[in-house]
Amino acid sequence: MTTSCIFCRIAAKEVPSTVVHEDDEVVAFRDLDPQAPTHVLVIPKRHIVSLDHGTAEDAHLLGRLMLVAKEVAAKEGRANGYRVVTNVGPAAGQTVLHFHLHVLGGRPMTWPPG
Ligand code: 5GP
Ligand code: ZN
Repeated sequence: MTTSCIFCRIAAKEVPSTVVHEDDEVVAFRDLDPQAPTHVLVIPKRHIVSLDHGTAEDAHLLGRLMLVAKEVAAKEGRANGYRVVTNVGPAAGQTVLHFHLHVLGGRPMTWPPG
């Protein structure tokens, strides 16, 4: 746990959030500034800075995060489609340096993203 990390603090319940899924390794909660009707962040409880910092030892955890993203989308009724995004590094728009998947859905999406 990195005490200065906002997502570690959310995972530890030191900072409130609207949790939509929790298990021993993963938490999913609603984004504070939603960019779509569904905008949920799926994070590992363990501090990993970004996808770039993932290792082979994290393979199982990273797979679980993807499956939780799918389960969140299903719970939110996004059978028509949704987007799962992770920003890696500031140039890609990563502002919180704790790995997270954005699950976005409920409005038309364009490609490529900005
Ligand atoms: P990034 O820009 O790093 O890909 O995404 C970080 C996301 O975290 C943003 O969409 C931002 O709105 C969200 N966020 C930042 N701080 C908080 C917070 O304290 N609580 C919640 N629920 N979301 C946050
Ligand atoms: Zn963290």
